[in-house]
Amino acid sequence: MAVVIIGGGQGGFQIAASLRAEGYQERITLIGDEPHIPYQRPPLSKGFLVGKQEQRHAELRPAAFYEAQRITLVTARATAIDRLARRITLDSGEHIEYDTLVLATGARNRLLPHDNVFYLRTLGEAAEIRQRLAAANDVVVIGGGFIGLEVAAAARILSKQVTVIEGQSRLMTRVVAPVVSEYFRSQHEAKGVDILLNATVQRISDNEVLLGERTRRPADLVIAGIGVAPNVELALEAGLPVGNGITVDEYLRTPDEHIFAIGDCAECPSLYFETCVRLESVQNAVDQAACIAKAIVGHPAPYGAVPWFWTDQYDIHLQMAGLPTGFDQVVTRGDPESRKFSVFYYRAGKLCAVDSINRPADHLAARKLIGAHATVSPDQAKDESFDLKTAVS
Ligand code: NAP
Repeated sequence: MAVVIIGGGQGGFQIAASLRAEGYQERITLIGDEPHIPYQRPPLSKGFLVGKQEQRHAELRPAAFYEAQRITLVTARATAIDRLARRITLDSGEHIEYDTLVLATGARNRLLPHDNVFYLRTLGEAAEIRQRLAAANDVVVIGGGFIGLEVAAAARILSKQVTVIEGQSRLMTRVVAPVVSEYFRSQHEAKGVDILLNATVQRISDNEVLLGERTRRPADLVIAGIGVAPNVELALEAGLPVGNGITVDEYLRTPDEHIFAIGDCAECPSLYFETCVRLESVQNAVDQAACIAKAIVGHPAPYGAVPWFWTDQYDIHLQMAGLPTGFDQVVTRGDPESRKFSVFYYRAGKLCAVDSINRPADHLAARKLIGAHATVSPDQAKDESFDLKTAVS
């Protein structure tokens, strides 16, 4: 018996660690193409950029852990999967055989058709941006999603002049309602960030970004966070089905019984949202890894964790529970002026997501509510005297 994991990110690491925690005794090989031991990405666009955290703080475990746990780390790219022989090929030409293969190949940054742009996903990219940020005065951030806004906040904390250029009409469109987008816009603007919405970059030179005839911004550092694309090519070439990610069932298994897929690269049926979803979050990668580890040691169960996400920008801690996809009603609990409020999203009268800004108790209650397929009415959600915890039996 041998488990081979392709992808040394959060999900790949977690399968190896969870397998050992579950008592799995056989060979575990973790293949990653970055020259580091596995690390977590969330600090890279936050504390790492402002010098509050170093590489060692991002490492998921010290190097000694892997030896002690008999987890073999291989630094290489997997280039092919031979499903009949149950063998993968590495870019070095070597082969590794598996009984169970887990694809945790993650995602890669979408790129702009311009030079002089930096992207932030890996530790190496974050280290380069951190160094350049220290020397920059004018920073232009393209993309007003999680990466863009976290980088903008870090650059302002370092007293840089910062412009954010977002193609959509509001910030974080993909994940939050207009009321939350507006709150973040106002907070960034209050910190001095210049935010341009509905804006498209036309040209980037050494020292400026051009958006149109008359709109230009000085820039000695341009960083883009314009979304990601799942790494599905290995699976596709091996003949596995791929939609908006590698297609897996509720047990996170592909149609090949020896191959699972998890994390940013995988699309699986959701217990809560009556559709297939591909989620780009740490929680999803970690919980899916734990689910697969249990399946490998003989305790399979459908994946059923409630999705949750977070972002930190300045002193604003936004926690998101559930998925707001297709929401048709939104109510706010608390006053945004107080800098502590939550937004409840409903689809056809049922609670589907809650965003909590500096209100962690609401976030925890929301995870329990959604996990229990329970709901609170919009009136109850708005009423701060109503105890959300009482709605979960
Ligand atoms: P994102 O959240 O999808 O945001 C990217 C934003 O950039 C979108 O609003 C996108 O609009 C916009 N955009 C796309 N092309 C553009 C262009 N040419 N000019 C201007 N704006 C453009 O992706 P991200 O911020 O790059 O994050 C990358 C990944 O890291 C995601 O998986 C994210 O979940 C993850 N991440 C998570 C966290 C967290 O959970 N706190 C933090 C950092 C990163 P369209 O929708 O129209 O493309």
